[in-house]
Amino acid sequence: MDIMAMLSGTSTAITLAKAVKDAEVSLDVATIKAQMAEILSELSDAKLAQAALLEENAQLKAEVARLAAAGDEIGAMVDVGGYKYEPRDGTAIGWPACPACLANEKRVTILVQNGKAEDAKCPRCKSEFSPVVSFVAAGVTRKDEELRRRAEGMERLNRLAAPRVI
Ligand SMILES: [Zn+2]
Repeated sequence: MDIMAMLSGTSTAITLAKAVKDAEVSLDVATIKAQMAEILSELSDAKLAQAALLEENAQLKAEVARLAAAGDEIGAMVDVGGYKYEPRDGTAIGWPACPACLANEKRVTILVQNGKAEDAKCPRCKSEFSPVVSFVAAGVTRKDEELRRRAEGMERLNRLAAPRVI
């Protein structure tokens, strides 16, 4: 039942109650009881509709509050290459927020790595993105860090393999 149906039912109940009150001839008990039953039915429906509207109103208020908070959070994010990152000490760290969740629902959902260093997936909507830059430290991408570690590993292997000069 929507607001218009609830108002219409309440209006009908009022009209019926008024007709009983203003009746110029005395009504018999059966007629009064029938009209009271109709009034009660209309009021009961209106009460149910009111409860549903109160619940809907509470849900809408919660959504408005969530959207306002999300707007503040999104506004504070750091934009790098079209992706939005949560700020840490004024710089982008970690994975960015899912662009699909931001655009469609104004929700900040941080992407997670999905295989390779620059592949990411949204844990919420399951959208996949590539390439996505992830920062392990200020200005240091996950891919840079991976390449640095590989180079370090190779250097260590080369040192071990090199003949020792005594
Ligand atoms: Zn998403």
